[in-house]
Amino acid sequence: MRKGFDVVVVGSGAGGGVVAGELAQRGRDVLLLECGPHRTAADFTRWEAKATHGLWWPLRLAPLPSGEVVALLAGRCVGGTTTINTKVAPRAHERDVAKWHPATGLTNDRGEPFAAADLARYYDRVEQVLGVRERRDWKKSVHTVEPGFHALGTELEPVRSYTDVNCMSCGSCLQGCSTNAGKSTMNTYIQDALAFSSLELRAEADVDRVLIEDSADGPQATGIEYVDAAGKRHGVRAQVVVVAAGALNTPQLLSRSGLTGSPIGRHLGLHPVRLVYGLFDEPQDAHMVYPITAHCTDFQHDEDGGFVIEATTIQDPIGFATTLCDERGPLWGPRLVEAARAYRRWVGLLAMANDDNNAAVVVGDDGGERFDVDFQANEHERIGAALDFSRKVLEAAGAKQVLWTGLASTHVQGTCRMGDDPTRSAVDRNGESHDVRRLFVGDASLVPRTLSVNPSLTIMALATRLAEHLDADPKGYLGSKAAAVSAPA
Ligand SMILES: Cc1cc2nc3c(=O)[nH]c(=O)nc-3n(C[C@H](O)[C@H](O)[C@H](O)COP(=O)(O)OP(=O)(O)OC[C@H]3O[C@@H](n4cnc5c(N)ncnc54)[C@H](O)[C@@H]3O)c2cc1C
Ligand code: SF4
Repeated sequence: MRKGFDVVVVGSGAGGGVVAGELAQRGRDVLLLECGPHRTAADFTRWEAKATHGLWWPLRLAPLPSGEVVALLAGRCVGGTTTINTKVAPRAHERDVAKWHPATGLTNDRGEPFAAADLARYYDRVEQVLGVRERRDWKKSVHTVEPGFHALGTELEPVRSYTDVNCMSCGSCLQGCSTNAGKSTMNTYIQDALAFSSLELRAEADVDRVLIEDSADGPQATGIEYVDAAGKRHGVRAQVVVVAAGALNTPQLLSRSGLTGSPIGRHLGLHPVRLVYGLFDEPQDAHMVYPITAHCTDFQHDEDGGFVIEATTIQDPIGFATTLCDERGPLWGPRLVEAARAYRRWVGLLAMANDDNNAAVVVGDDGGERFDVDFQANEHERIGAALDFSRKVLEAAGAKQVLWTGLASTHVQGTCRMGDDPTRSAVDRNGESHDVRRLFVGDASLVPRTLSVNPSLTIMALATRLAEHLDADPKGYLGSKAAAVSAPA
């Protein structure tokens, strides 16, 4: 087994999958390590419990001072969370990106405050690779709720997503797409690089730490150590290490490796979300649609309310029946049975609220993880406004009953923020650690302030930018490369 590479990338999700694929396609010698299994379309079936066990990170809960919890959801397989996500692909709004410079002093290559325009060509590239397109194929459940949005003076618009025309609207995105219509990094960047270039993938490889050694220029990353499925420990040397283990895991891995700077693990953004369900007279079959084809962005900015509503969806039965609540608390007994029996008649709206990165990932003295979340008054206000608006929409559309779930986070961001100011960021504008040379971060942890929309396209754009920077090699970390081999056009 080879023990030396140009670049080792840890984590194969939106960030790591893109960095690894892009660098390998450019002729760099890349090892991609993923702690989850390598599953493909041939393995995916609509078996909720099996997928949750086999493809998802075990459920993690962040307690709130009120006694409630925020459920932290993520993938744990090759492709990371992109393998089990819903593939909605908006670009970040320029007003969201405009918050980044004040947060961390982040500037672009010309030393100007970083702006959305600095991401444009990377978005172009990702959209082209993933075939991002508009979804106007709204099903019955969307048409059912649309009048409710109109009654409140708002509009639903089609989303853009990385799903191709073979999407059969089966609704099984969260269990992995069995047609490959849904594009993850697994079936695009990684698969292409495995087939046509020098990428090596090792799945079920749990990276324990980054190896850091002193040099004349200060500490530098020289490789990683990982534990394989059989429990055997391996060391790998590399010129450059890119950590892209997701915003909850990257800061833990850096802490375990001896990085202790205060920005690491802080400024966790959750983009809190809940499902709000309306019960209608007719069957809606919201489980048999591509989960999100429409959204309402009229309240996207903090000053307008600070939330975005997506339509329509419903959890699969286990998730649905174990998370329902109303003003009286969790549903239980006959009321729960009655709600579950009417499964086909419920339509769900996804209500996502802006937050201000006030949470944190903490590694305890025993090495265990902890998530500190305490929403501030303005964040509670937005979360409450998103729920209120969704209830009103469903009632205006004719729902006979409205229920909702507790809070979850599917869009964690910002625990190793990029910026020019080392006191407020963990890595510089190119993603390189302020403290350790040759060590880069390449995932959602980079995002300085939470976006008001789904973040994966932006994470992939940032990862493309990082790959371009590494390949350009301004500091001479990688040296010359073998001739690039590209996939046929
Ligand atoms: C249910 C759900 C639906 C979503 N829908 C959308 C959507 O429609 N649109 C959108 O834009 N976003 C969506 N998201 C969010 C989006 O998928 C994530 O924001 C994005 O994938 C995060 O990218 P990442 O690279 O930071 O982390 P991930 O994609 O989570 O990848 C991190 C990878 O690192 C691996 N890893 C962690 N620790 C280690 C270690 N020590 N060693 C080796 N490997 C490790 C993990 O197993 C994982 O595979 C959704 C998320 C969820 C949970
Ligand atoms: S709804 Fe479309 S993208 Fe989602 S799993 Fe089904 S075929 Fe794949």
